[in-house]
Amino acid sequence: APVINFDNVTKRYPTQKRPALEDVSIQVEKGEFLFLVGPSGSGKSTFLRLVLKEERPNDGRIHVAGKDLARLSNWKVPHLRRRIGCVFQDFRLLPNKDVFENVAFALEVIGKPRRFIRKVVPEVVELVGLEGKADRMPDELSGGEQQRVAIARAFVNRPMILLADEPTGNIDPATSIGIMKVLDRINRTGTTVVMATHDAAIVDSMRKRVVELEEGKVVRDQSRGVYGQAY
Ligand code: ADP
Ligand code: ADP
Repeated sequence: APVINFDNVTKRYPTQKRPALEDVSIQVEKGEFLFLVGPSGSGKSTFLRLVLKEERPNDGRIHVAGKDLARLSNWKVPHLRRRIGCVFQDFRLLPNKDVFENVAFALEVIGKPRRFIRKVVPEVVELVGLEGKADRMPDELSGGEQQRVAIARAFVNRPMILLADEPTGNIDPATSIGIMKVLDRINRTGTTVVMATHDAAIVDSMRKRVVELEEGKVVRDQSRGVYGQAY
């Protein structure tokens, strides 16, 4: 079964005339890497918020990890979200914690034992290429390094799904390539990655599945795709 299944999903915000998503059907299989592309306002963030059950659709069905989100009671939503790592354009690190503590925090809040945290945090810090920098504070790191910390934090709990909203949006092109290598490494462990982006060079270099949204509708779904399609 797909890890994310949108079945004819329509989402309207009360204040908006046009739906943010209209009759969207997308299946994402376990282990896939999917780019969500489209102009600003085309519905990419809405898609990600629906996966997290931060919003609910007006029509259609959404299944995530086999669960029908419409039937998932509110008290089970945190459990769903634990299985989904999130990375944002603006990193969202805790400024008063060092690299180790930022990553460890994701495990502390779900009650993991300290012994376990001391074992897995260095492994993930190394996975994202920050070995030797565990005791740096965020303001002692470059933008690319801060995003690596954010990715480590999102991945340390080994989520089934990683959602990334414009993760290279605040990072220069050369550094973005390194960030994509980290996301690719994470994807190769079996984690499904869904990345919303405007970064054409990155999408073209990766040759992964591309779903393009336009005014809330899927206008293209291409395996090993590129950012812009010559129609
Ligand atoms: P994207 O991520 O592709 O920029 P969004 O999903 O953020 O697109 O937005 C899709 C549409 O929904 C836009 O027209 C946007 O203005 C609208 N929208 C997004 N969030 C809200 C909200 N919370 N309330 C009202 N309208 C919203
Ligand atoms: P916009 O819709 O204006 O592009 P953002 O991309 O900053 O705004 O995200 C808007 C909302 O999406 C935030 O309220 C955020 O909580 C929610 N969100 C939660 N998880 C994610 C995620 N993984 N990727 C993108 N947005 C997310």
